[in-house]
Amino acid sequence: HVCAAYDSLVQKIGKKPRVVYMTPQGYTFNQKMAQDFAKEDDLVILCGHYEGIDERALERIVTDYVSIGDYVLTGGELPAMVVIDTVSRLVPGVLHNSESAETESFENGLLEYPQYTRPEVFEGKKVPDVLLSGHHANVEKWRLEKSIERTKKYRPDLYEEYCRKQSGT
Ligand code: SAM
Repeated sequence: HVCAAYDSLVQKIGKKPRVVYMTPQGYTFNQKMAQDFAKEDDLVILCGHYEGIDERALERIVTDYVSIGDYVLTGGELPAMVVIDTVSRLVPGVLHNSESAETESFENGLLEYPQYTRPEVFEGKKVPDVLLSGHHANVEKWRLEKSIERTKKYRPDLYEEYCRKQSGT
């Protein structure tokens, strides 16, 4: 059935689309993969249930094996939703400018800096002065420092990678 559905799709669109099979045995999904998928005009996402899908069908049609993490779900529907949501917000026009995807976590290899909104004082805690200063360069410097600090604390693996890239090795 999976192959028949694939064949009729190929006939309809006149080319072989990229087919992503959601499986705990795949490469772990990340932002870089999402950026790559977002460039495609067509993307097919295949999910299994119970033991998965016959290996021969997979060998015939799958181009990418993708896992959302080292745990096992009952079916691939939720993993597929994770991929669809992540990829679609990278498609131009999906996000409003104010929610720009460019400064989010992982886009520069770091976790995002802390966010603050109004009021200036909440339960005795003030928004950091530098953010209220209107001094753009200082704000950027503060954000980068906080990003680095957080990444070092919560994701030492990403931090190491970031340091390696910065030192050009
Ligand atoms: N027998 C498979 C194995 O051990 O690798 C697990 C099958 S799982 C119970 C059923 C389906 O859920 C899979 O075919 C896949 O589509 C989906 N699935 C489960 N965990 C997943 C994960 N971490 N990432 C992506 N898909 C997952």
